[in-house]
Amino acid sequence: MNMSYAIIVHGGAWDIPLDEQEGHKVGCLKAARLGYHFMDEGGSALNAVEVAVRSMEEDPVFDAGRGSFLNSEADVEMDAMIMEGKNLDFGSVAAVQSISHPVTLARRIMETSPHCMLVGEGALKFARSICMETVTTAELLTNKEFERWKRIKADRDYQVRRIFEGDPGKLEKRGTVGAVALDRYGLIAAATSTGGTPNKLPGRVGDSPIVGCGAYADNDSAGVSTTGLGESLMKVIPARRVCDSVKNGMTPLDASIETIQYLKRRVNGLGGVIALDHKGHMGYAFNTPHMACASVDVNGKATVFI
Ligand code: ASP
Repeated sequence: MNMSYAIIVHGGAWDIPLDEQEGHKVGCLKAARLGYHFMDEGGSALNAVEVAVRSMEEDPVFDAGRGSFLNSEADVEMDAMIMEGKNLDFGSVAAVQSISHPVTLARRIMETSPHCMLVGEGALKFARSICMETVTTAELLTNKEFERWKRIKADRDYQVRRIFEGDPGKLEKRGTVGAVALDRYGLIAAATSTGGTPNKLPGRVGDSPIVGCGAYADNDSAGVSTTGLGESLMKVIPARRVCDSVKNGMTPLDASIETIQYLKRRVNGLGGVIALDHKGHMGYAFNTPHMACASVDVNGKATVFI
């Protein structure tokens, strides 16, 4: 039995304005502590990442669950995935509506359906078939988000790339969420959840629910969750790249840095990654102005930064 357990979470990598930074830090720290507490009580890494992500899905500060960005038709469509590193089992959901906790739906797909991934109406049907509570778009929507949507619609120059690379004063922003945990039994788990990018086309799916892109977990190497501009991230399969680099001897920190450098060099991409290996070593990297992040390490020490 591996007695070390640890967790790292993120709340998105982009240009987080000063007045939103405290909310991001508080939400990330709360999520990391909740997940750690579960493992402290003997819970699994899978429960820890689910509970951490659920807490950020509930928090309208983040672009996941309640507070998700609206698409071009003012609808909420969410993506999420969860993965465990023993058998490489994962569940994922894409472009799903009317669910408060897409990460839990992803977990139920992994554990109770014969499939790994469900999308759109089919995912919602599955959620209803297992009696998962559904909500209206209005319940997922915050006033702030609707105001933002109206401003985006009125902005002829709007470009989603700018919210990741920095566009001071233009629009307030928020981020995708993710968590990676290692439990005392040696299980690594990772999860990511998002409302995607603002004003995306209906049906658009980003990197977050795609295995190896939005997250990956392998007990032999590491667990990873990513965030950033999905159209760039999904071209380089960054989560799996970090795991492979750790397997080949890199630290999670070096592997994270190398992957973000590759993302930039190869596709001029924007984003961030968090990683945690089977010994509890952590790493992160990002090339956006900020990434909201919190962790509780193997010694129980909590850290938060933007
Ligand atoms: N990667 C997400 C997407 O493109 C957005 C984000 O991480 O902020 O859907």
